[in-house]
Amino acid sequence: MVQQDPSFRLFGRIWRATFISRPNRFLIYCNLNGRTVPAFLPNPGRLQELLISGRRVYLIREDGFRRRKTHFTAVAVLRNGVPIMLHTHRTNAMVKYLLQRDRIPGLEGARIIRSEVLMGRNRFDFLLRKGKKEILLEVKSCTLVGQRVAMFPDAITERGTRHLRTLAAFSEHGKKGAVLFIVHWPFAEFFMPDYHTDLNFSKAFLDVRHKIKIIPLSIRWQEDLSLLPETRRLQIPWGYIEKEARDQGSYLLILELRRGRKISIGKLGDPFFKKGFYVYVGSAMAHLTKRIERHRHLRKRHHWHIDQLRAQTDFISALVIRSSTRLECEIAERLSKICEWTIPGFGSSDCACPTHLFAMSENPIHSENFQNLLQYFRMDRFGQ
Ligand SMILES: [Zn+2]
Repeated sequence: MVQQDPSFRLFGRIWRATFISRPNRFLIYCNLNGRTVPAFLPNPGRLQELLISGRRVYLIREDGFRRRKTHFTAVAVLRNGVPIMLHTHRTNAMVKYLLQRDRIPGLEGARIIRSEVLMGRNRFDFLLRKGKKEILLEVKSCTLVGQRVAMFPDAITERGTRHLRTLAAFSEHGKKGAVLFIVHWPFAEFFMPDYHTDLNFSKAFLDVRHKIKIIPLSIRWQEDLSLLPETRRLQIPWGYIEKEARDQGSYLLILELRRGRKISIGKLGDPFFKKGFYVYVGSAMAHLTKRIERHRHLRKRHHWHIDQLRAQTDFISALVIRSSTRLECEIAERLSKICEWTIPGFGSSDCACPTHLFAMSENPIHSENFQNLLQYFRMDRFGQ
């Protein structure tokens, strides 16, 4: 009789709840059988594209944490019917399981010598032995996914960049550094560093490509949070990354106007701006980072329409879409379909667009439509 591999589980009993809000990085509120309950969130990432109100979240109970106000811990969120694991502290238990069963392409036959390996001031996840070779392995959990593309990181990670450089230095004298990106999305085909969010990490990723093993691996959690044994190594489109991962492209500036008022905007006169959130789309085909810094600061000579609006509003966020081609008008076109109102003629004197300023009453960061737009331009546009 052929013995079936028992399915792998990280957790015992799970509770299914509905996401409501995330008041701070490590806490969420959700609806559990009609009751609002707080849950600890063991994931420091931004997760803005995943934690959208109404999504199903999976909770477990963890007792014995004296300082915690809640016994619940959020471990996963459902995206298009597939759970995405959020409990980053448990990723290594799963990687150990995959390593022992030779389910990680490129690391077949490797055995674990030690976990939690200290190397200088950095801690790495595993020291492995494969034949006579030592492999230092760092594991990263990747939850930022589009349809076919996965990206890492979802927030700037200096630690992650340092890890790549240290692994490259380890790859000398017969040793090897390796990084494993666990992609919690079974439909992914491609993996890229998230150059929109962290250009330094992406540059390090390109620099170390010939020195270390880079293994992006997609896995699939089933609806009951058991792991399917199939894994898939994703492709890395190196040429595309080299072309796109530069300090150029477009940006979305999100500003909040707390009280409606007239604001004088150059040749547009004094249009009335309703209270709400304003999204401005612009581009800089060089020095994009500097441009965004300029928008963030208030003390400057007013040069563009956006400078006059910026002076009257609170800065909420600047979202970057890096690309080698100018996309701002295409982005404006898509924004016009999901916004509630616009200020005609704003920021569009050099192009044929009706406007480059769009508005909504709620912060678009928490809107599914807005996150989909961002996902399209940052990820799904690849290969189209
Ligand atoms: Zn335009």
